[in-house]
Amino acid sequence: MKCAFYVKVGKIEIRDNLPKPTIKPDEVLIKVKYCGICGSGVESFKTGGLYLPGIIIGHEFTGEIVEVGEKVKKWKIGNRVTVNPNVPCFDCYWCLHHQENMCKLSNNALGTTQNGAMAEFINVKAERLHLLPESISFETGATVEPLAVAVYAVQESGLKIGDNAAVFGAGTIGLMTIQVLKAAGAKNIFVIEPVESKQKRALKLGADKVLIPKNWNKITRLTNRVGPDHVFDAVGIPETIMTSLQLVKRGGHITMIGMHTLPFEMKNFLALTTGNITMRGVYAYNQDHFRTAISLLEQEKVNVEPMITKRIKLDDVPKAFELLSNPPHDEIKIIVEI
Ligand SMILES: [Zn+2]
Ligand SMILES: [Zn+2]
Repeated sequence: MKCAFYVKVGKIEIRDNLPKPTIKPDEVLIKVKYCGICGSGVESFKTGGLYLPGIIIGHEFTGEIVEVGEKVKKWKIGNRVTVNPNVPCFDCYWCLHHQENMCKLSNNALGTTQNGAMAEFINVKAERLHLLPESISFETGATVEPLAVAVYAVQESGLKIGDNAAVFGAGTIGLMTIQVLKAAGAKNIFVIEPVESKQKRALKLGADKVLIPKNWNKITRLTNRVGPDHVFDAVGIPETIMTSLQLVKRGGHITMIGMHTLPFEMKNFLALTTGNITMRGVYAYNQDHFRTAISLLEQEKVNVEPMITKRIKLDDVPKAFELLSNPPHDEIKIIVEI
């Protein structure tokens, strides 16, 4: 079967010679319809990141069940599905406490450490499946996974109705976070984003004010010199991490969604202590966040249509990774039609 194969840093190849996967008794075989390109993939393509070389990439996907393992009771051939791509051990302290995203195998996932969905078919444990309601198209369904990231981030932040929030970055996760914040009852949502096309999308999708990075301190003025109750960092570079500490209200919360893999010099770390600031990292999601993401789409509380900036075929995946690795660009979510 045909697939997009991660050979090594800087090299993704389209291969046509991989065997169609076979299923275990507790698995189903999915004919993949759409698969999104994730920022984490681009990061790994550039620097190594979380991805293991030698696998098929792709973890944001939808498809139709075409084969069902003998032990699988709940699912039928023809079901439209999306998939939680994390593959936890189900046996460690965290898995036994329903915190699978903190599993000791932490980043073990389809498309990250084992074969993913930029392929004609993928085998998946039935326990990982989520039914896609008829009202959500296969294309839209491919954005459930990044939406679940934002749902988890906002839930874990402890944001209350009427709180002010600032979001660094209006890429996929930033734009999802803005919409989830709106749905959760945030008062003012400030967005810091340098690219003009992304600023416009942020405003369209619920931001109250967008600023370029060097003007971040205007937010302090706009919040009576107090600062926002919450800051969400959907970028994760040294500049946004350090600015978050200056920007957030004393006693406020910083939620780190963006990932920074390299060491850097932290300039104002004292602000964390003197400002009584809570800084918290969030990684991935659990099954409940997937369910919430699906219902937010079903109820049209989140609109992903303006976020899909390109639709491509499998053959164009290597070119798309080249494009996404060279910012600034205007792309948000590129979706691959399989
Ligand atoms: Zn992703
Ligand atoms: Zn585990």
